[in-house]
Amino acid sequence: MTDDASSSLLDGRALAQAVRDDVRADIQAWTDEGHRAPFLSAVLVGDNPASLAYVRGKEKDAAEVGIDTNTYHLDADTSQDALLERVHALNADDSVDGILVQLPLPDHMDEHTVIDAVAPSKDVDGFHSENLGRLLRGTPRYIPATPFGILEMLSRSEIDPEGMDAVIVGRSTIVGKPLAALLLRRTANATVTVCHSRTRDLAAHTRRADLLVAAAGQAAFIDADMVKEGAVVIDVGINRVDDPSAERGYRLVGDVDFAEVRPKAAHITPVPGGVGLMTRAMLLKNTLQAARLHAAHA
Ligand code: NDP
Repeated sequence: MTDDASSSLLDGRALAQAVRDDVRADIQAWTDEGHRAPFLSAVLVGDNPASLAYVRGKEKDAAEVGIDTNTYHLDADTSQDALLERVHALNADDSVDGILVQLPLPDHMDEHTVIDAVAPSKDVDGFHSENLGRLLRGTPRYIPATPFGILEMLSRSEIDPEGMDAVIVGRSTIVGKPLAALLLRRTANATVTVCHSRTRDLAAHTRRADLLVAAAGQAAFIDADMVKEGAVVIDVGINRVDDPSAERGYRLVGDVDFAEVRPKAAHITPVPGGVGLMTRAMLLKNTLQAARLHAAHA
């Protein structure tokens, strides 16, 4: 057991603020050199409340650090061709550094087609197949914000994954797979296992993890029995559970049973207040990088 439970918290709020402060200072230096402010365009299709909230959060963060934004809000029944036209116009617009198409898209659209229509040099989400290929090769251009945020959290907390048994639960293209590639790099040197819904005896894997990353989207399903004493536990999951006592009628919980696991873990991220805030902060870092890339190629 960790004696001082409070020492184990990886505070996403404070760490994300530190990232934003750094990005704001870097942008100030960038504009002091005579460059215009970085510019991020977001495209949102439909009225998914979570997506609306995410885009508003991104706009607010961008304003805080000095990134200009605009958001194109298209109707849910917009055709895929109309969306692609919008993306092509943003690709061609030299005043736009970064483009993000908020996911998920409506069912009548093909996400891969839309993501691959974004110019790879403006793909600040890092989801374009070219950027994912570069990540796998070990020469990333933009690192997808969630795995990037996890690495940043670890490094700012002086947790070195070298030699660790890292177990990731979830193999999505936005979290599990890119994180596995990043932890395998010679700069991280973890030994990586990726689990999924067909993994036999999940607990046998999670129990030997020095670094456990839960990204399955299953409320509080990682309990204390599944976690090794002294592990670093990163909870990516964001799940709504009914809670009549809450104003909204629900509350957000992670994939990890926080109360049970916290005393056993050396470090743990809370939900909310953990990886989600880091994800938002790393998008800002990628947008500044996009502005630098465009200035270099202008
Ligand atoms: P996906 O649904 O794309 O992927 C979930 C993965 O978890 C799949 O690989 C799935 O396996 C696996 N999985 C599901 N249930 C189990 C189980 N019981 N045991 C083992 N593996 C399981 O989700 P995302 O990667 O998009 O998101 C995962 C979670 O993270 C969600 O709660 C999401 O809201 C949250 N999220 C949080 C972010 C943040 O910034 N904090 C950013 C992005 C996502 P299989 O492949 O076999 O189906």
